[in-house]
Amino acid sequence: MKTPAQPGSSLYDSDVFRMACRQFDLAADLMGLDPDVRERTKLPKRCLTVTVPVKHDDGRVRVYEGYRVQHHLSLGPTKGGIRFHPGVTIGEVAALAMWMSWKCAIAGLPYGGAKGGVSVDPGALSRRELEGLSRRYMQEIIPFVGPNIDVPAPDMGTNEQVMAWMMDTYSNQVGNSVPAVVTGKPLSVGGSEGRREATGRGVAYLVKRQLEAMGIDPRDATVAIQGFGNVGSEAALALREYGARIVAISDVSGGFHNPRGLDLDSALAHVAAHRGLAGWRGGDAVSNEALLELPCTVLVPAALERVITPANAGKLRCRVLAEAANGPTTNDADRILEERGDIEIIPDILCNSGGVVVSYFEWVQDLQSLFWARAEVLEKLCSILDRAREAVEGQRRRLGCSRRLAALTLGIGRVAEAKASRGLFP
Ligand code: GLU
Repeated sequence: MKTPAQPGSSLYDSDVFRMACRQFDLAADLMGLDPDVRERTKLPKRCLTVTVPVKHDDGRVRVYEGYRVQHHLSLGPTKGGIRFHPGVTIGEVAALAMWMSWKCAIAGLPYGGAKGGVSVDPGALSRRELEGLSRRYMQEIIPFVGPNIDVPAPDMGTNEQVMAWMMDTYSNQVGNSVPAVVTGKPLSVGGSEGRREATGRGVAYLVKRQLEAMGIDPRDATVAIQGFGNVGSEAALALREYGARIVAISDVSGGFHNPRGLDLDSALAHVAAHRGLAGWRGGDAVSNEALLELPCTVLVPAALERVITPANAGKLRCRVLAEAANGPTTNDADRILEERGDIEIIPDILCNSGGVVVSYFEWVQDLQSLFWARAEVLEKLCSILDRAREAVEGQRRRLGCSRRLAALTLGIGRVAEAKASRGLFP
């Protein structure tokens, strides 16, 4: 029998959007979410699709497709990154926007979730072409964003420089400097101390707290990290500070493994010089897939979604799975991990929330034109992460469910409560 189409789901239909919806349904069933609020809490509120023409260095114009999805508008402006990646689709962006909503709610931030993206390989663009793409994408979404409407930030394939170009484009249009329109900017134009490292540091901090709860000294822990971009590399550095041994790292070009520990400084210098890990000689070669199955205390997927699948979930050899990426574990893989019961999962919407927490600090600082010291930012970050972690643990005890379902029900519950309190207009 054909299952009836869900209202509004056809536009976004894709593996990753279905995955986010299935997570929502499991959580909503467990909470017994009021049917009157259920569908409107689940489905993204609105989206914009734009075409982005860019003049390339060879003189030709190429047109890229970009998106911005705002998931809910019930708690304040929407918030979330912009991804430049060849695999970006509107369905992926919608799923990522949903996850941003639960993530912000768990951390207690006054935002709905959003996400943006352009289907493009930024590595294949010159700096001038990347600037053209960043500025024109922002130009096209100007009516849809603003400090009180929707506040973008970096995600995969974008960085501080891209945010600076976008802030400049927006500011030129409105006629005055508006730093609060995007976060993750350079310090020189209203960025926050600690934002660049916030996601990775937050991951490391939550890993440390989890290890402590398990009675494991971080100095006895080994770590394998898939993805050595901003999040993976900052997580590696912070975990090294806690005394952990990083035994494997990888990026799109492949990975390296050394059970005695890798020289992170040498890896970072190589990446800075060659734009990737390819050609580094710091360990034995390991593929991105094989890295996930290495024996280690902590496995950190910090790249794309849906990399832990039924094909490898049974083969993971970690004690802790710290989801630095958004959506790295498919629902079927999650079920296998739960049946195994021997791996503690720090779910993505908690694990990687340090980035948006410091984005929130950046937005607040920009609105007030009053800037905080790095120590203050990091201390406030840790206290929000502790509070979020304790709230998830409390929910888990109350509902007797997995940490992922505890995090989802907590985030979804807070959004649904705001919607119920505000009522339905008209
Ligand atoms: N792109 C990041 C995320 O997935 C950060 C979003 C933000 O700082 O607004 O959480």
